[in-house]
Amino acid sequence: MTALRNTVTMLAATGALALYCQQAYCQQVSAQSKDAEPSTRAANAAFATSLPFSDRADFDDARRGFIATLPDGVVAGPRGPAFDTKPYAFLQKDEVPPTVNPSLWRQAQLDAINGLFKVTDRVYQVRGIDISNMTIIEGDSGLIVIDTLLSNETAKAALDLYLKNRPAKPVVAVIYTHSHIDHFGGAGGVISADDAASGKVKVLAPDRFMDYAVSENVIAGNAMRRRAQYMYGPSLPVSDRGQIDTGLGKALSRGTVSLIPPNDLIKQDTETRKIDGVEIEFHLVPGSEAPAEMILYVPQFKLLDMAEDATHNMHNLYTLRGAEIRDGRLWSRYIGDAIARYGDRTDAVIAQHHWPMWGNDRIVAYLKKQRDLYKFIHDQSVRLLNQGLTPTEIADRLRLPPSLANEWSARGYYGTLSHNAKAVYQFYLGWYDANPADLDPLPRAEAARKQVDYMGGADAVIQHAREDFKAGQYRWVASVMSQVVFADPANKQARELGADALEQLGYQSEAATWRNAYLVGASELRGAPLPSQASAANAELLRGVSIDLAFDFLGVRLNGPKASGKHIVINWTFSDRNETHVMNLENSALTHRAGKPDDKADTSVRLTRATFDAISARQRGFPDAIAAGEVVLSGDPSKLRELFALFDDFAPGFEIVEPRKASVE
Ligand SMILES: [Zn+2]
Repeated sequence: MTALRNTVTMLAATGALALYCQQAYCQQVSAQSKDAEPSTRAANAAFATSLPFSDRADFDDARRGFIATLPDGVVAGPRGPAFDTKPYAFLQKDEVPPTVNPSLWRQAQLDAINGLFKVTDRVYQVRGIDISNMTIIEGDSGLIVIDTLLSNETAKAALDLYLKNRPAKPVVAVIYTHSHIDHFGGAGGVISADDAASGKVKVLAPDRFMDYAVSENVIAGNAMRRRAQYMYGPSLPVSDRGQIDTGLGKALSRGTVSLIPPNDLIKQDTETRKIDGVEIEFHLVPGSEAPAEMILYVPQFKLLDMAEDATHNMHNLYTLRGAEIRDGRLWSRYIGDAIARYGDRTDAVIAQHHWPMWGNDRIVAYLKKQRDLYKFIHDQSVRLLNQGLTPTEIADRLRLPPSLANEWSARGYYGTLSHNAKAVYQFYLGWYDANPADLDPLPRAEAARKQVDYMGGADAVIQHAREDFKAGQYRWVASVMSQVVFADPANKQARELGADALEQLGYQSEAATWRNAYLVGASELRGAPLPSQASAANAELLRGVSIDLAFDFLGVRLNGPKASGKHIVINWTFSDRNETHVMNLENSALTHRAGKPDDKADTSVRLTRATFDAISARQRGFPDAIAAGEVVLSGDPSKLRELFALFDDFAPGFEIVEPRKASVE
């Protein structure tokens, strides 16, 4: 295990949270929003007749076993509420507003059902007060908590809600099902880091949990956090013209995020452990929904916990915030394995998002559909790419068979068939469609200026596009107005028409992630400010990573052109870690290796990891740290300053729906 030895406390690493929709600009976003156009009304009305809305079994399941919920619906946080269920009260309406896809409305209603629920004897869940679920198993002497939500505040509120309604017992074990932050970020609200470190509380996770818990979000972290704002829509007003759900749960909480490292790992494909008198079978499913993940089976309760590999929607093979592509073939196989292993002895299935399902026949039927959903997406996308279709062609053509399409749990609320099909293409073939005309096209803004010019200028394009807008051709209008905006970001008419088209697309989207992305895009075209504050998360998150990864992250901050012609060698000794690394800048590339110091280094530096982190996050300068005796230098000190002047600081709020304003060297 390379990554983390100390407890890390960080502020919401999902970072999307820099903007919060209580700000004045949020009211401005609300005021600018428009109503559903006739084409959108018609499309949403047609949707309402295309699916089995009379099937209300999910609502029964989502409400079954309800015990109690938060009395005032609010969890307090460090900067305003960490979670607030009240703004979502409008979802109680039976009549679907024309600005929301009816299928998404249904999912948003289901995700709004919140509180403490009994799953089966000795098994409880807290749902709907964060994007994910907390599962609590009553052991012989204490509580086994499976997943700890995203923030300490919501996790504590979840546990308190349980304790208020059930006999008080201490938490004796925490299990992280996988390496995503909405499953471990709230651990600090449930147990203390000291109790985990001493082993007093068992903290179990799948093999390589720590490698992935932070590393997945570091190297490309700045871009991911910015993109996450589009996907989750925290800057949008909560309303029927704004954010209503994420598809996977109501919303991300906005609290304090912690990472308490596990003190025990599941390393074999299958391992059975007895925890506080409860036998639990763990089954590793690496490389499915997360790089490190496991599902659980509890024979005593005939309970199967599918972690995040089977939820009540089509999940992501590609997540819009950006991440490595997930393998649908493997994912499907794991669900098949779970059916074979546990299918005939499961009475209740839960996951760490959404609601449970009871009854063996129903469970097996549901899991089979989930298994086949991911296999279908994989196989049919590959079939079509082997027939020579390109990503957009595959995405546009692919349709689920009716046996899956009419299954609520296969609908795309978080993932979509469209972007998942493109993910399969990318998994096997990458970004290039093999047409050499697409091999080296002009960059977007330059191409846009040419195209708009060829099309007779911006006014002619906008005039045409207005007709298409009236005809409901929003996909095309959004796309062509983006060309005009990239040709001339100051073109107000193009921005407004583009925003209007994105907005209608958002209103029609069945996927919450698409709705959020479209509506955030529209708000930014209409002038909503970009996030300007760097998220504290990044600096905090970096404390948790290995020195290797921290140096790799410096490497991606190195400004290549500025570094041209420079050769700098630095020995780094971390006095608190007993580690020495040699860093080499040459050919505008920063490399490093652990081991013996280099005799010919320009400079040798001795410091602690904490000092290094503060300097690399520019919270401290070298002169200051040297004066304080925290950095001991030998050799040429100017080389160190020279090196650190070559690192870029990433802007948290770069433009997305228009060309970047500030130049990038
Ligand atoms: Zn999750």
